[in-house]
Amino acid sequence: LINVADGVDHQVAMVMDLNKCIGCQTCTIACKSLWTEDGGSEYMYWNNVETKPGEGYPRGWEESGGGWQSGEHTDRQTGEIPDREDYGRAWEFNHEEIMYEGSDEPLRPRDGAEWGPNWDEDEGAGEYPNSYYFYLPRICNHCTHPSCVEACPRSALYKREEDGIVLVDQDRCRGYRYCVEGCPYKKVYYNTVSKKSEKCIFCYPRIEGEGPDGETFAPACAEECPPQLRLVGFLDDEDGPIYKLVEEYEVALPLHPEFQTQPNVYYIPPFAPPQHTDEGESVDVDRIPRQYLRELFGDRVDEALDTIERERQRARQGADSELMEILQDKNPAEQYRLEVF
Ligand code: SF4
Repeated sequence: LINVADGVDHQVAMVMDLNKCIGCQTCTIACKSLWTEDGGSEYMYWNNVETKPGEGYPRGWEESGGGWQSGEHTDRQTGEIPDREDYGRAWEFNHEEIMYEGSDEPLRPRDGAEWGPNWDEDEGAGEYPNSYYFYLPRICNHCTHPSCVEACPRSALYKREEDGIVLVDQDRCRGYRYCVEGCPYKKVYYNTVSKKSEKCIFCYPRIEGEGPDGETFAPACAEECPPQLRLVGFLDDEDGPIYKLVEEYEVALPLHPEFQTQPNVYYIPPFAPPQHTDEGESVDVDRIPRQYLRELFGDRVDEALDTIERERQRARQGADSELMEILQDKNPAEQYRLEVF
């Protein structure tokens, strides 16, 4: 089987359909209110939704190094630790003046604002009328070859045998932050109060069965997502939708495969309408430049988009399409439970 690490029984995985993301941040809040409200973790977003093209969160993470130098997974690539400003700060607004002091100024950040995690949402890319942007939700990828694990000199980070979830052992961690430097996705965070590292835990208590009768739940980000864009399951469950999307149809792709960590979060790449002339006529050019999508998802993105388009056309003409049925599932978080198979 592809992408299940040695010594791991089954690998949890998630597929996110970027065509459904509306950037509402419900997943971000579901995660934050569950896991990162305590002292020292206020700035952390184990789940974030960033706007692309854009700097992302933390700012410039795609150019911050980390990962592996080759697919051999023997030479780690050194990386950088983002500074506090790269994570952005909460802005203070002039609410008080407007609400209580009769100011007729527009609502604005009090001390000016130059950057924040979703700053790029207001900028987009391209020239009107062909401007574009899309949303990219991100969690830890629970990689098959996690460079964060390799980076830790105390073996505080580890990959669980039963499901491949990557965790930080809080008793072993000494807060050296090699893991922050080593993760090319910058999905490990340093807690400034506990002085230890923290990260997405794939909501393992929920998938292990925390309900009163031991019911299992999908990770909170998947369960709470209004458009239900996240599929959760085991990658190696050949009857499951994740296996079909990743391995059979090859339409779900990892983000930045060149980092060589082999992520287990996969994305259905975004479609975009064709470009228009100033007169409103369609021209046969994608609004989201294909080269940009290749930079994010690798060269396989062309074939993935072609496959989806082909299946979409078939379904429109009345033919059965298993792929379209999976992609159009209305409630995947409800349907797919992480039961050991
Ligand atoms: Fe480690 Fe980063 Fe991969 Fe998560 S995304 S397993 S933190 S290397």
